[in-house]
Amino acid sequence: MSHPASASRIASFGTTIFTEMSALAIQHNAVNLGQGFPDFAGPDFVKNAAIEAIQADYNQYAPMPGTLGLRQAVATMWRTRTGIDIDPLAEVSVASGATELLCDVMLSFINPGDAVVIFEPAYDAYVPDIIMAGGRVIPVRLHPPTATNPVWHYDPQVLAAACAQKPKLLLLNTPHNPTGKVFSLAELTEIADLCKTHDILAVVDEVYDRLVYDQHVHIHLASLPDMWQRTISLNSIGKTFSVTGWKIGWAIAPAALNSALRASHQWVTFATSTPMQYASAVALMQAESNGYYTQLVHEYSARRVILRDILSQTGLPLIDAAGSYFISIDVAPLGVSDVRVFCRRLVSEIGVAAIPITAFYVDPDAPQLARFCFAKKDETMRAAGERLRNLHTIAWR
Ligand code: PMP
Ligand code: GLN
Repeated sequence: MSHPASASRIASFGTTIFTEMSALAIQHNAVNLGQGFPDFAGPDFVKNAAIEAIQADYNQYAPMPGTLGLRQAVATMWRTRTGIDIDPLAEVSVASGATELLCDVMLSFINPGDAVVIFEPAYDAYVPDIIMAGGRVIPVRLHPPTATNPVWHYDPQVLAAACAQKPKLLLLNTPHNPTGKVFSLAELTEIADLCKTHDILAVVDEVYDRLVYDQHVHIHLASLPDMWQRTISLNSIGKTFSVTGWKIGWAIAPAALNSALRASHQWVTFATSTPMQYASAVALMQAESNGYYTQLVHEYSARRVILRDILSQTGLPLIDAAGSYFISIDVAPLGVSDVRVFCRRLVSEIGVAAIPITAFYVDPDAPQLARFCFAKKDETMRAAGERLRNLHTIAWR
């Protein structure tokens, strides 16, 4: 993409991999297991709440920090999850999805030249957000599972060295996109200790916090000892309630951090969709008591098994998800040297869209993994499975 007369801060930005792969999926009539969004409907109690809010004429600007009802629902949910009582007026802010909040965080806390530690692979918005704020990235590698270490893992010495460079901020995503990693208590404790030792602000992207499987549990970094004061926790309605198009997100943090965050939010979008905030409040309040969260994990666990079985049939090494909704396969045994090229060919020649994990790395020397999403109907995944049977009929090298 060329940008005539554009600012230098966007010079390195291309088209997002999600846009590219979803457009190719449409062009080739492919089964889209690439971009992470459900192809099934969100729950009726949530959709009906939105319809009722519009009919009741909650259709004008919401208050800049969010509707009181949604902020109260977030505070109630946070108390249930962490035992921490927060002030919904001062310690919760609502914005247009986690995407806006990630940008607001960088604009509000990063000065030109400030460093931000991220784990790589990193969700694709992180680096552009840091760049737009004039910051610089310190990537810490997550290494794929090995025979001796069966989960995605980082080298503690590399993380300690990164934090010793006095970054302003550490941005963590757990459960993690694209790897499906769920950071353990031991890892979070280590991260917390480094943040306290080096006076680093922690920002945690927890948009998949309700999607954890088997023995894995999501732990909120902000709930660890002495972390509340230095942590901003981000979440949104999209994944948990299968309504990714609603773009309602919230930040939970002490008042001083929230007030800084609002300073940029008020000039980025000012306020976000009023009826969707009403409906999001209903979603959070009713889900706690109507069994929705248990059902959600139950359904996603079944989808995960289906995708795992389909991908296993390719015979390629597979990395399962502990959380989130992504499973990866290693395409190197096919003789593929560039997984991005592989994904372009997969969509046009086999008719299945996936996401090359290399898009989530700053470092060009990245593992050749393709990410597949299981937020899809059974029949969608089975249709992809049928097509993937042809994988080995093609010369990939
Ligand atoms: N963070 C991660 C890790 C994500 O995967 C996504 C989107 N899928 C977002 C943030 C953006 O969330 P939202 O749709 O609420 O803007
Ligand atoms: N978060 C989604 C994914 O990882 C996509 C979000 C987007 O399209 N920007 O697939």
